[in-house]
Amino acid sequence: MNADIPSRRLVLRGALAAACGLSLPLLLSGCDSKPGASSPPSGAAPPSAAAPPAQMKAKQSGVQYQLTPKGEQKCSNCRHFAAASNTCALVEGQISPEAWCIIWAKLA
Ligand code: SF4
Repeated sequence: MNADIPSRRLVLRGALAAACGLSLPLLLSGCDSKPGASSPPSGAAPPSAAAPPAQMKAKQSGVQYQLTPKGEQKCSNCRHFAAASNTCALVEGQISPEAWCIIWAKLA
């Protein structure tokens, strides 16, 4: 009976590691609630330069992207939105200013 425990632990550890590896960067990017708390020193690259490469961005379907706002929350007031290009630092593809997704974070 106890012989099963190590293998279950390994499976659970593997699943946890995989889940954290996929979701933690996205979650952490929205955790900074203090304006300017993670601001780079003057002269450093702007925050958008720290955005993940395009191949690392989340798929729209993976973040419940929708073309309508959720209450007051919409891409145009999200910290990850780039209005000049209608793109998002974290979600791939063209992004509507009136859209929304689950990793919305208030624009400081
Ligand atoms: S709401 Fe989602 S898709 Fe829209 S800008 Fe923010 S993170 Fe990107």
